[in-house]
Amino acid sequence: MLSEQLKAVNCAIRQAAEHADRDPTDITLVAVSKRHDSDKIRLAYQCGQRDFGENYLAEALDKQTILSDLDIVWHFIGHVQSNKTRKIAENFAWVHTVDSLKVARRLSAQRPADMAPLNICLQVNIDNETSKSGLPPDQDQLLDLAAQVTTLPHLCLRGLMCIPAPKPQAEQNGASFKHLQELSAHLQKHGIVMDTLSMGMSDDLPTAVAHGATIVRIGTAIFGQRQSI
Ligand SMILES: *Cc1c(COP(=O)(O)O)cnc(C)c1O
Repeated sequence: MLSEQLKAVNCAIRQAAEHADRDPTDITLVAVSKRHDSDKIRLAYQCGQRDFGENYLAEALDKQTILSDLDIVWHFIGHVQSNKTRKIAENFAWVHTVDSLKVARRLSAQRPADMAPLNICLQVNIDNETSKSGLPPDQDQLLDLAAQVTTLPHLCLRGLMCIPAPKPQAEQNGASFKHLQELSAHLQKHGIVMDTLSMGMSDDLPTAVAHGATIVRIGTAIFGQRQSI
């Protein structure tokens, strides 16, 4: 049942935090609801969940319309196509997947001035996969981009995000998470103010928390298998 699965995930976050000697309230659960219908989101909301993540813009906008009576914090976690930035800038509180200055500039320019700044994370292609979007895990390049992004008026740079390459065992993602944590520390050492590491999914949540995740993005463990399109 969804309510029990959600409770189990929150419990797993608490346990992982205690194990890592961290405060569990420093970790936000984003419930990834892509390809699950809005009834399930409503149910999770009724259980207290507030942050939801969506990958596909058209699908997300439909759900936002249906669920407009709820006070949801919407996170965009899919690939950002530059011709879709306006709708993203207008309808989300967070974008986790910014991977170019061009996209960052468009999001800032298109963020309505009467809304709070759009929270963004820079997506890092942490395992250098050719199939994946994201910035190369190069500390100088990231620092350069982060410094430019912080000058954009309608964005708030919150941190870094990654999706590790699939591995036979989830614990093996530890090296990727550690690398993202090191890149974040490098940026902070050079004056970039950030508080977010968006990493960890259903299979590797404890490993991500052990390496400093402050946002975990969990779909399957809460909602079950996704509908195929
Ligand atoms: C789908 C997705 C998730 C959730 O994955 P699960 O394995 O279902 O928990 C998290 N992050 C991103 C970027 C995703 O696309």
